[in-house]
Amino acid sequence: MNWNMIGHDWAVRLLQQHVREENHRQAYLITGPESIGKTSIALRFAQALNCPKINKNGDPCFNCRTCTLIDQMNHPDLTVIEAESPGAQLRVDQIRGLQHGLSLAPYEAKYRVGLLLRFEEANQQAANALLKTLEEPPRQVILILTASSPDVLLPTIVSRCEHIRLRPVATEIVKHGLQTKFNLSSADVDVLAHLSSGRPGYSVQLHLDPGKFEHRKTSLDQLIKLLVADRVERFEYAEGLAKDGKASSETLKIWLGFWHDVLLKISDSSSQITNLDYSEQIEKISESLGYKQSLSVVQGMERVFNHLAHNVNPRLALEVFMLDLPYHEVEIP
Ligand SMILES: [Zn+2]
Repeated sequence: MNWNMIGHDWAVRLLQQHVREENHRQAYLITGPESIGKTSIALRFAQALNCPKINKNGDPCFNCRTCTLIDQMNHPDLTVIEAESPGAQLRVDQIRGLQHGLSLAPYEAKYRVGLLLRFEEANQQAANALLKTLEEPPRQVILILTASSPDVLLPTIVSRCEHIRLRPVATEIVKHGLQTKFNLSSADVDVLAHLSSGRPGYSVQLHLDPGKFEHRKTSLDQLIKLLVADRVERFEYAEGLAKDGKASSETLKIWLGFWHDVLLKISDSSSQITNLDYSEQIEKISESLGYKQSLSVVQGMERVFNHLAHNVNPRLALEVFMLDLPYHEVEIP
């Protein structure tokens, strides 16, 4: 049993073994790209550590009160801290609050679990404060950190954790996982699994949140329209998009995936693209634009992300991108 995860079997086996043999570490670091399954596996591990009905393989029951409350991040012995929103900072007072909670004996479970999400967003003070706890963790405390990569954390933090690096999951495994979990047509499974780029969580989110799927479609349709739009229309669109920082970075991520597909199609037409349901449009655009032009669009988008990360005015960054976007002569159906 792989704890109802899609993929990452090796990581589940490792953690099962730690639970079974009661030789778990006091701190874990789970790294990997967004929506790959870091938080899911951390919560499953917290369940396995504390479920009173754990079986001899190290599998939690997923049904008892403890398992249910942990899954909802609502168990009194589980403390979850993260920056207020993605991209914001995790502050030292949040670490202090966590440390206070962890210094008390577990309320009802075997272990107190501190889950620190997106720890790369911790500012320096917060990271230094956590280091103290990692050096001498209280007994009956397990810390689980998640981050996009170990390279963005202090090496002293990484070295004090058991590092579990989650890698993209093969499309076939994502497909199988989606089929097992949800009652979907094989065409839907195909589209969702390819869109995931190996991140099962992303395809699950797209399936469970039709708004998200719809937003992706609207963003791609808009991008295709912008290719034939003049500068005035492009700037108007940039202005509207820039008003909502979160939405604009979501849209840009979707566009970037599309342009990666265009590049892929140009360089190796037999490769499997991500946006399977837009293969016709991708084909047409890749036929009319050369490699150089498509590459410069991707590079332009990467510059926009870089600007946004460094707090450049989003409207300005998007306007520059609109100028870089090639003009397509005929409308793409
Ligand atoms: Zn349970």
